Amino acid sequence: MAVLVLGGAGYIGSHAVDRLIQKGYDVAVVDNLVTGHRAAVNNKARFYEGDIRDAAFLNSVFEQEKVEGVIHFAAFSIVPESMKDPLKYFDNNTAGMVKLLEAMARYNVKKIVFSSTAATYGEPKEVPIRETAPQVPTNPYGESKLAMEKIMHWSDIAYGIKFVALRYFNVAGAKPDGSIGEDHHPETHLVPIILQVAAGEREQLQIFGNDYPTPDGTNVRDYVHVIDLADAHILALEYLKQGHESNAFNLGSSTGFSNKQILDAARSVTERPIPAVNAPRRAGDPSTLIAASDKARSILGWKPQYDDVKEIIKTAWNWKKNAPAGYDDRGGNE
Ligand code: UDP
Repeated sequence: MAVLVLGGAGYIGSHAVDRLIQKGYDVAVVDNLVTGHRAAVNNKARFYEGDIRDAAFLNSVFEQEKVEGVIHFAAFSIVPESMKDPLKYFDNNTAGMVKLLEAMARYNVKKIVFSSTAATYGEPKEVPIRETAPQVPTNPYGESKLAMEKIMHWSDIAYGIKFVALRYFNVAGAKPDGSIGEDHHPETHLVPIILQVAAGEREQLQIFGNDYPTPDGTNVRDYVHVIDLADAHILALEYLKQGHESNAFNLGSSTGFSNKQILDAARSVTERPIPAVNAPRRAGDPSTLIAASDKARSILGWKPQYDDVKEIIKTAWNWKKNAPAGYDDRGGNE
């Protein structure tokens, strides 16, 4: 029986595929390679290039594979882009989920682990954010993922497809050996942008907003290492295999770091000056996002290995030094 990883060539998906293979799972990957990289996919996984909205393609994958469960990473995830082009997000993310669940219902696959996001909560009324907090997104990205959670809820009731929604906070880092890591074009995320400045590829970091109601005025986020995040998906799959009901879990460290604190941590790790300037707020950014993540720890048995943001940045820096141009340096491994 195979675990089918959708979006397995992306940043988080490729680390999850790698961890699944290391733990002895049989893995099949689907990715349309719009933002993913073929070279990021562990070559012990079977690879199918195609789009989950293409029903004929998806059916053919379910025909070829005996799927025990799906882990779904295949979505767009950039907040500012979603503000400019919301329909791109509702099409790929939300409509993609409908197509996926149709195929799962057709092929009697009853387990899905889903990449959800802290962005489904919007601007929290209470921090740390618990899973029971109101979900009121402030951007179309979060809205598209909240809709996906709701579609899964009703599909559970109607078709018995059980799901775990993992609501990620901020993800960073790379496999410690530097062989896979984060590579987006264009890059929009804080840690890789800071490391591009450290590497001399960008002149300076723009810090978006310094007048938020936070201790130093910059946004506060909660960072998790990508490997810890990947491992939570495997625990969630096992939780569903044990016959548990559908559920949602936050994945965060329960500790917040401001954008300025992340910059300082990166200066210390890289021993580079990393010039930075204050810039206007970025549309759609909540002020503070910190997870209450005890539910994942107590119910899934999740034990993150990385609790130090410098250690997280160190692994991202290692990947940056190993592959300065990301996967462009590395070719395919087909
Ligand atoms: N950020 C920034 N400069 C950048 C990129 C990001 O100040 O060049 C800030 C962004 O406004 C947010 C934080 O860094 O406060 C994290 O943003 P990112 O895009 O990495 O993740 P998000 O929180 O949107 O998922």
